[in-house]
Amino acid sequence: MADSELSSDATPDRESTPEPVGDAADAVLELEDVTKQYGAETAVRDVTLDVRDGELLTLLGPSGCGKTTTLRLLAGLERPSEGSISLAGDVVAGPSTYVEAEDRGVGIVFQDFALFPHLSVRENVAFGLKDADGETTEDRVDELLDLVDMPGMGDRSPDQLSGGQQQRVALARSLAPEPDILLLDEPFSNLDVRLRVEMREEVRRILKAAGVTAVSVTHDQEEALSISDRVAVMNDGRLEQVGDPEAVFEHPESRFVASFLGQAGFLSARVGDGTIDTAIGSYDRTLLKGLSDGYTGAMVDVLVRPDDLRAVPANEANADGAIVRRQYTGPSFIYHVELDNGDVVRCLHNHAEDMDVGEHVTVDLVSDHSLAWYPTQG
Ligand code: ATP
Repeated sequence: MADSELSSDATPDRESTPEPVGDAADAVLELEDVTKQYGAETAVRDVTLDVRDGELLTLLGPSGCGKTTTLRLLAGLERPSEGSISLAGDVVAGPSTYVEAEDRGVGIVFQDFALFPHLSVRENVAFGLKDADGETTEDRVDELLDLVDMPGMGDRSPDQLSGGQQQRVALARSLAPEPDILLLDEPFSNLDVRLRVEMREEVRRILKAAGVTAVSVTHDQEEALSISDRVAVMNDGRLEQVGDPEAVFEHPESRFVASFLGQAGFLSARVGDGTIDTAIGSYDRTLLKGLSDGYTGAMVDVLVRPDDLRAVPANEANADGAIVRRQYTGPSFIYHVELDNGDVVRCLHNHAEDMDVGEHVTVDLVSDHSLAWYPTQG
C-alpha cells in the first residue's frame, strides 16, 4: 500500500492548494447545444459547457440524469443527435463531422480500472505508448510510476495490488500518451468507503501534477465538491448549474440544486415590510439573499441546511414542533423536526446531544450567513 493511502487526514485541503485554472477563453473542450436521444428517450438535452485548460470539472447528478451519456459523447463512444463537440479547437462531433474515439486524444479511466490482468504494472502503463522507442517508453513509465507514488512496483501484476494501487496504475496508464483530456467514470465507486475519501485527495494531486484537463462523473455530492475546480449539476438531461464548489453549494440557483446538495430543508416564509415570518420565528428580511421589494406580501421557501439549525427541548405549549426522525451518523445526530405548519427541517447536533423521537422542541437559526430562497410554487 502506498504511504499516502495511510494518511490519517484524508480531507482534501482545498484552502492550501489553490490551483489556478484557465478562464472560459482557455476552453479545451466545448459542447454546444448537445442533445442525445435514444428513440423516445432524451438522455442529454441542449447541454452547452466549456471545460478549461488544466481544470477538473465534475458532472454531478442523480441516477439517470445523463452524466454517463455525456461522458460517452465526449469520449466518442456515442454520437450526438444534435449539437457539436470541439476538442482543442477542432470539431470532433457535429452535424457533418465525427472523429472516432481512438483518434480524439482522450484518455479514459473506467469505473473498474480495467487493468490487463496478464500484464505487469509496467506493461499496463506502457500500453498506450506503443509508438515510442524502448528507452523513451521505460523513462516515461518510470516518470508515471513516480507520479502515482508507486516506484518499485512495476513488476507486480494487478492482482497483487490494493484497490487504491490499481486506481493509481489505471491513472498512470491513461496519462501515459498525454491526452488532451482525461475522462473519469465514477472513479471512486469501486473502492471501499475509507479508501474512497483518501483517494479523492490523491487523484486530485496526480491530475494537478500531470497538468491534465479532466472531466469526472459522480452522483456523490461530497466527492464532487471536494475534488473539483468546478461542478456541473445535471438533472433530467439538462445542466442546472455550473460553478465552483462553494458557489453551487452556497448559492444554488434552483430548488433542485439546493435539494440535491447537503440535506436541504425549506422553511415557508411570508415576506413582510421589514421582516420575514416563519414557523420558527421572525427575522430581518435582509437574511434573504437578494430579496427585492416586489416580494413584499409573497410566500417564499427559505433554504436551510442541518448546520444552520439547532433543536432545543421545550414544553409542548412553547414548542415549534416535534422530532419525527433521529439519524445517528457516529460523530453527530441529525434530527428531523416537523414544525407546526407541516415544514420538515433537519438540525445538526453533536453525538452527545441525545433526544428522542416525539420530543417537543423549539428550532433556532444558528447560522450567521444570508440564506438562499425560492418563490413558493403553486
Ligand atoms: P447512473 O448514475 O445511474 O449511471 P446517469 O446519470 O449516468 O445514471 P445515463 O446513463 O446517462 O444516466 O442515462 C440517462 C438516461 O438515458 C436514462 O434514462 C437511461 O435509461 C437512458 N439511456 C442511457 N443509455 C441508453 C441506451 N443505450 N438506450 C436507451 N436509453 C439509454
